[in-house]
Amino acid sequence: IFAMVCASLFLFQGDYQKERARMVADQIRARGVRDAAVLAAMESVERHRFVPKHLRHDAYEDHPLPIGHGQTISQPYIVAAMTEMLRVDSDSVVLEVGTGSGYQAAILARIVKRVYTLEVIAPLARRAVTTLRENGMTNVTVKEGDGYYGWAEKGPFDGIVVTAAASHIPPPLVDQLKPGGWMVIPVGPVFAVQSLMLVHKREDGTITKKKVMSVRFVPLTGNH
Ligand code: SAM
Repeated sequence: IFAMVCASLFLFQGDYQKERARMVADQIRARGVRDAAVLAAMESVERHRFVPKHLRHDAYEDHPLPIGHGQTISQPYIVAAMTEMLRVDSDSVVLEVGTGSGYQAAILARIVKRVYTLEVIAPLARRAVTTLRENGMTNVTVKEGDGYYGWAEKGPFDGIVVTAAASHIPPPLVDQLKPGGWMVIPVGPVFAVQSLMLVHKREDGTITKKKVMSVRFVPLTGNH
């Protein structure tokens, strides 16, 4: 009986590998994400460890989930698509604004050399530090602070991902983008549909911007 209880507990807790594979196939690959490193990261990072325990069974579903403090972990497809848009690799250093659960940072950590991530809500920043450590991510640095201003001392960055909606593209983030680098950021009104903008700094320093899709993110807060 003891063995049966242990076995069923193991099965119950599981590692959700099948759910993760299904998520990648049905939600991410099926919608056009092709970058092999992004697909591998989405398949290996245990998303259920980044959501509140009572929502674990929902961790691989096709929608965002609440993580407390009025904030969310983004829909898996959006995380994958935004990561692919950064065009980063194992030599890259990336800045994330809006650490939240730490999941997007963990996906990036599997792909790039180092991730710096800023979170304005202190308890979320502290929890993300713990979650990332427990999941063996040693190349992520989390800091509490207003990401509007970026993290100049650690820059410039090969890629910048902003996971909260801004009213405009923050000039400090454009300044901290390396020539040749890409930034992805939702821009638009709060609590409404925003435009996901892809910003590129060309080698000569000129900036291009284009809208890639419509999204709905929680607002980028702060005093800016
Ligand atoms: N990337 C996160 C993840 O993987 O779980 C999801 C982020 S959630 C959609 C947006 C996050 O941005 C929230 O945790 C919110 O507190 C944070 N945020 C909002 N304004 C911010 C700011 N000015 N600086 C840093 N973080 C901010």
